[in-house]
Amino acid sequence: MKVSHIGIAVRSLEEAGVNYASLFGEENLHRETVEEQGVDILSFPVGDAVVELTAATRDESPIAKFIEKRGEGIHHIAFEVENLQEELDRLKAAGVKLINEIPREGAHDMLIAFIHPSSYNGVLVELCQKKG
Ligand code: ZN
Repeated sequence: MKVSHIGIAVRSLEEAGVNYASLFGEENLHRETVEEQGVDILSFPVGDAVVELTAATRDESPIAKFIEKRGEGIHHIAFEVENLQEELDRLKAAGVKLINEIPREGAHDMLIAFIHPSSYNGVLVELCQKKG
C-alpha cells in the first residue's frame, strides 16, 4: 500500500490552483472532470503522490455538501492497493464500514472506493487501484 493522493475540497479550482502553484509550482498539472463523482480536479504531483484540488460540478456533489458543512480543507486521503476488490472484501469482513463495497470509476484512470470516516477516526479514506 502507498499514498496515492490527498484530496482537498475547494470552492474555486482557479483560485485554489493559483494558491497551490505558489507551493508546488506549475509543472505537470493535470486537470480532469469526473462526472460520476460530480467533481472537477486539478492535481499537483508531489513526489510519488499527488495533491488533488477538488471542486464540485453540481450542488448535490459530495464535495459541495462537504464544503457547506465544514468549509474548504482536506477531504480525504487515498491509498493505492494492488487489488481493490480483495482489499474491500477483507476490510468488510473485519467490520470496517465501507461507503462503496464495489469499486467505482475515479480520476487518473483508477478504480476507487471510499471507507466511512467513522472507521478511521474521522478521516475519509479512499482506496484506489490502477486499471489494467
Ligand atoms: Zn481521491
